[in-house]
Parts: sequence; structure tokens; C-alpha cells
Amino acid sequence: MSKIASVKAHPIVVELKTRYWTAHEGIATWSVIIVEVQTDDGVIGYGEIHGSPQKGICTWVERLGEYIKGMDANAHLPVWEKMFGVTHPRRNGIMDQDGMPPPPARSEFPQVLGALGGIDIALWDIKGKLAGLPVYKLLGAENRPILSYSTGGYYREGAPDNHCAEEMAGFIAKGYKAVKLKTGAGPLDVEIGRIKATREAIGKDNLLMLDVSGAFSVHEAIRFAQGAEPYDITWFEEPLHWYCQPADYLQLAEATTIPIAHGERLTNRFTCRDFITSGGIGYIQFDATRFCGFTESIRVAELANQLNVKIAPHHAPEIHSHLVAAYPEHGFGCESHGDPERDPTFYHLFSERAQIKDGYVHMNDKPGFGIEIDRKFMERYKAK
Ligand SMILES: [Mg+2]
Repeated sequence: MSKIASVKAHPIVVELKTRYWTAHEGIATWSVIIVEVQTDDGVIGYGEIHGSPQKGICTWVERLGEYIKGMDANAHLPVWEKMFGVTHPRRNGIMDQDGMPPPPARSEFPQVLGALGGIDIALWDIKGKLAGLPVYKLLGAENRPILSYSTGGYYREGAPDNHCAEEMAGFIAKGYKAVKLKTGAGPLDVEIGRIKATREAIGKDNLLMLDVSGAFSVHEAIRFAQGAEPYDITWFEEPLHWYCQPADYLQLAEATTIPIAHGERLTNRFTCRDFITSGGIGYIQFDATRFCGFTESIRVAELANQLNVKIAPHHAPEIHSHLVAAYPEHGFGCESHGDPERDPTFYHLFSERAQIKDGYVHMNDKPGFGIEIDRKFMERYKAK
């Protein structure tokens, strides 16, 4: 039996050359935490966390690492349950009776679930390495190219409204067959103009998705969707304000022909369940690198697969392609950034990883997730 011997967090922050804006926020840096889990027989697994604040998450990586030390590195289910159990009251869970801490402040839950996710991904990497198999093979899948779309069209200071069209056409010229436009920040007529210009620039045969980062109320989203409908839109992503619930998504879905995509900020399978079963979404975008890890993403994908909701995980194609591969019918594809300046860690942090060519993720056949870390890059951009 290989036992978990050590768990380390490596926070990385890269300053971006350009400040990118979504409808919700400005993005001036790009960060990731690499989680390194080592077994007592010397196998190293890597996980990834995209979240903030990094310090809080790293503290929880180290803390959870102490609780799971000595457990079977292959037994991802009891390890997951032990870590998740930190977040809720347990019988004899107070006054140090079970040797674990009482539940942390509720404000720390996102950090705990992020840390759990990174460790869980590293354990799947270890599982593959111990078995000598890529993760997709552990799931019984075949290695097939996985569709990837490039996200772009971010707002930039001083850029004309329709600069997005040229940028998106550039991704198509690189081989992408699908692109996702950031929209929702400006007046309706300007935004519909950006969508029209983008559709004209990428041609009719490529897929176009829209992501408004939670910009609208239900009625605003319905108006926006009806304006966008003539441009053959594959999905309308995070259409509603953060507080909206499955019933609101259903109301929107019933008023437009464009399928709704959602889930990159959902923290666990229980909230995903309610969005999936409501009938309000056509695509689920649960992100294993943000919360609760690869194990939870399989649970979410299993439900989505049964209810004809397509699986389109947010970001981290080097990890999520292994999940999508396991669902030939409902596994839609993975997000990536065709612009290396927007996502420097995908392009420079790994000395080995899945490749994106001709608009598809091509996984390698190395054990685990098939990733190796460029230690020099990691040290150079280590967060202070
Ligand atoms: Mg999004």
C-alpha cells in the first residue's frame, strides 16, 4: 500500500501584460496553486487549484495534508470524505474528541473546498502513476481528441468595441473551431453589435458561445438572448446575477432558444444537482480545480450524463480533458485560451501536458494526468 507521506502547496502568480476585463472584474494577474502530494514509496502527484485568496487556500492544503497523512493514497473516497468532513459538524466533533478540528468559520469554506480539490486531483495523478495508466484509462475511456474552444473578446482599455471580431478570427486562423466571447458589460445595442461582428469574422461553420459573467437579471437576460439568437449561439454562459437560483435559470431557458451554460462557480455536487435537474441548463461547467476536485467532477458528470446535460468543464484542459473523454455522448469539450498572454501558466508552467492543436485537446499517454511541472518557472513566479 502506498501511503500519503507529504502534501505541499506552491502558489504561483504571473503579472499580465494587459489588464483584461469581463463584465464582472478586471484581471491583472494570473495565478494557480500547484499541489504536490508524495507517497511513502516516492511517487509524486500534482494537483491544481484556481482560487483566492491563495494564502488561505495554501494554509488549508497544509492543514488537510496533516489530517490525511498515512492514509492509502489510492483510497480517494475515504480521503475525500475525511477532508470534506472538516466543513460540517460531526458527532463528537467538538472539544478535540475525534482528533480533528471543529468546523472552521463558514467564510473559510471556499478555501477548504479549493484545497480539498487540489489534493484530490493530485491523488488521481498518483493513482494513474501507481497503475501505470493515464487517468482517462482509469475511467475506462479511450484517448480521443477533445473539442476545445478559445475564450477571448475581453474588454481592454482603449480598444474599439469590435476589436473582439479580429481577435476571434485569429483563434480560428490558429485552428480553433469554437470561440467564446466575453460580453454583457456595455449597452445592449453595442453588445449585439460585437456578437454580430464576431459571427461575421469567424464564419458560419464555427461555434460561438457567449459569456456574460453573471451580468443580468432574468428580464435583462431574456432581452439579451433574444437579440443574440439570430447569430447561431451555442450557449449563453452565466447569464444571471450571482444570487439567481435554478428556478430563475428555468424561466430564462423557457424564453430563449439558446441553451444556458452554468456551474464554474458552484462549489459541490449538491448545488450542481439542482441546476442539472431543474431543466434550466444545457451545459454544466463544474471546475474540479476550483472546488472539490476530480472525484466531485465525476459525480457531477454522471448526473449530467443521465439527464442529457452536456459536460463542458471550465478551464484547465490538461485535467478536465480526462473527464470529458469518459462521456462520448454528453462530454462537450474544454475551455482554453488561444492567447498565451492571457493564460501564461497553461503555456509555460508545464514541461509536459496535453497539447491543443487544430481546436482539439490531444491527451498524451503518460500515467496520471500526463503533466510535468517546469520547476524553474514555478520558482521564478512563486507568490511572495
Ligand atoms: Mg465563464
